[in-house]
Amino acid sequence: MLGRQARLGYSGAPLEGRGSPPSQIPKVAATLEFVLPRRSVYAAGKPYFERDDEIMARQKPLKLYRNIGIIAHIDAGKTTTTERVLYYTGKKHQIIEVHDTKDGKTSTTTDYLEQERKRGITIQSAAVSCEWKGHQINLIDTPGHVDFTIEVNRSLRVLDGAVVVFDGVAGVEPQTETNWRLANQYNVPRMCYINKMDRMGANYTHCVKGIKERLSPKAVVCHVPIGSYDEFVGMVDLIAGVAYIWDSDDKDAKWETIPMDQVAGRFSFAAAQDNEWLKRIPALRQELLEHALALNEDAFMEFVENGKFDPAVLKQCIRKGTVSGEFVPIFCGSSFKNKGVQQLLDAVLDYLPFPGENGGIGMVDPDGKVIGEQEVRDDAPARALAFKVINDQFGTLTFVRVYSGTIKKGDTLLNVTRDRKERIGRIVEVQAAATKDIDECRAGDICAFVSMKETETGDSLSDPDKPALLERMRFPDPVISVSVEPKTRADVDKMSTALYKMVKADPSLRLQVDQETGQTVLKGMGELHLEVTIDRMRTELGVEANMGRPRVSFREAFGTPVELVYTHKKQSGGSGQYAEVKMVFEPLPAGTGVEFSDEVVGGRIPREFIPSVEHAIVTECKRGQVAGYEVVDFRARLIDGKYHDVDSSALAFEIAGRACFREAHRSSRPKLLEPIMKIEVVTEADYLGTIIGDVNRRRGSVTEQGQKGNQATVIGFVPLAEMFGYINFLRSATSGRGTFTMEFAHYAEVPPGLVQKLMDAEA
Ligand code: GDP
Repeated sequence: MLGRQARLGYSGAPLEGRGSPPSQIPKVAATLEFVLPRRSVYAAGKPYFERDDEIMARQKPLKLYRNIGIIAHIDAGKTTTTERVLYYTGKKHQIIEVHDTKDGKTSTTTDYLEQERKRGITIQSAAVSCEWKGHQINLIDTPGHVDFTIEVNRSLRVLDGAVVVFDGVAGVEPQTETNWRLANQYNVPRMCYINKMDRMGANYTHCVKGIKERLSPKAVVCHVPIGSYDEFVGMVDLIAGVAYIWDSDDKDAKWETIPMDQVAGRFSFAAAQDNEWLKRIPALRQELLEHALALNEDAFMEFVENGKFDPAVLKQCIRKGTVSGEFVPIFCGSSFKNKGVQQLLDAVLDYLPFPGENGGIGMVDPDGKVIGEQEVRDDAPARALAFKVINDQFGTLTFVRVYSGTIKKGDTLLNVTRDRKERIGRIVEVQAAATKDIDECRAGDICAFVSMKETETGDSLSDPDKPALLERMRFPDPVISVSVEPKTRADVDKMSTALYKMVKADPSLRLQVDQETGQTVLKGMGELHLEVTIDRMRTELGVEANMGRPRVSFREAFGTPVELVYTHKKQSGGSGQYAEVKMVFEPLPAGTGVEFSDEVVGGRIPREFIPSVEHAIVTECKRGQVAGYEVVDFRARLIDGKYHDVDSSALAFEIAGRACFREAHRSSRPKLLEPIMKIEVVTEADYLGTIIGDVNRRRGSVTEQGQKGNQATVIGFVPLAEMFGYINFLRSATSGRGTFTMEFAHYAEVPPGLVQKLMDAEA
């Protein structure tokens, strides 16, 4: 017993969680210097790192900032759109097509990791700064894959507005819905951009309908496409009352601006639907005006009575509505064929909020309760939130969003979350693969601090004299785990340091050492999430590791309340051991966590021994009595006990506490809990029956099914334990035509009759 305890202290506790680095893990991140990459993305003149004139502090009114994110389902064209934005804003002199990168030939600015090139998905949320018409746009890229929802989460937390990109053929896709709901939670103002209007099968009617029905009834058509597929030449801007028509697909092609009422007479397309849209222009314009002007009573009355309005007031109304979420404008274009991106940038300036326009940031107490709000202002104490940590061969880059105050190079800030001071050595503005030194950053800025030592994702940084905790991001608990082993002898020493760095950068990962086997266990949000982490460790940190079979993170719970007295007594020569505890264990609602209350009165257990009992419970609950999984959601009440003047000790009470917990849990008719995932499958209608039958066989339930033309959708809940390798099933069952997404929904009890079978499968 004591032997195991000794091991617990050594190898069990230190790696768990994301606290300060355990002592046996050297803090490599702390000692590495950030070295500027010896490659410049600027095509002309001296490389940026040799230019002193580039090193300067920015001075720009807050109103000229936009911190925005691009949100999309994978493949909708987010990367292509970002590339065009960087091209048109002048940061990049050569457009690199995404399909070049999928075979690893070259890299786009935001997809710069090898992993992303290989898989073609954007994993890193890189923050890129660029200028458009005198405004600074900080663009935060977000990944489209569901395993990386955490990345979307963390960027939504620091964004002021978002552009949601849709594929003009596919319309609203499952991941867009998930991300839309997340954006609702964070109150992020949004605009829709229906991309790929040049693709065969592009269907604006289907996209607009999907947005209105599945995402927001407040969505309003602001652009009407002129043609589609190979006839797509531009769009009607219903706000300005004009049409933009391009004469080629060239990236520098000019567009002609004509009055919108000339469009219908000038074009006739092969697809009846395209002509139909042009006929609807007057009605759609009327609808837009009514919707927007309704946000300003005087303007609305003037419009209703006299049919007149001021175009500037119309824009103000749309801005007001978009910022407050009352109005969601829909625009269109083809990023690939270079049509509509400049118009989209104009719309970002016109309708998405500047930092602080939508209010400040909540300040919280250590329990997370909101206790105030910090306005976004330069002349206030410095407050910033670290929202992403990137480790690479150059060292540590900590991305922050500054909410208030001014932070200068050389300043010392307090990491309020960890109560540690941090000196700000260098500040850089980031353009993905390139960085630019700046002397200071101010309220509203998004930038990165170089070589921070203590700060992790989600931490609050603050003026040391006026500390404040900022509202944290929400991170889901991991639901899947794998054992990780170093691939070669040379990797043995480096692996734990590398894993620790990966976990520090990604709060949806956890690291643990299995107490029984001594194996290192990595936990995350999905199979792909863990695979990518191991692969990134190889490419970014040069450490190779093998992954074991993925396992479900089961949990355990108390079935019924239990009261129990446990006496620990040992008298074998020398000094004895004696401790008695009387405890009550009560199940709590899901998600409550573990609570301990000391209700001992009259000194029946001396004060100094109570922490030993509490420690015993919070550590012993990591191994439940059903199958050794963590026990969650219960309250442990220490109500009475006995001690002996000579034989009682902290150790004796700890042993009594542990044994009491074990016995109580065993006798409470304990439950095994398993993660239940929400899944959405999209496939051809012919396969609907097969998919539904299979969901039922996997102990799942279908909650919704729908059919649009030949496309069928199945939404339901399935235990994660039944979902491994689902993609292979789907591929063979649908001849490769089905796609699915899956996200964690909740924990639920495993039916008692199945516990043994599941545990046998896990063994
Ligand atoms: P992401 O996964 O959302 O970042 O999407 P990408 O930008 O990587 O685009 C996915 C694929 O769609 C790539 O092959 C792009 O070339 C293509 N694509 C992106 N935008 C357009 C567009 O406007 N029209 C067409 N036809 N293809 C596009």
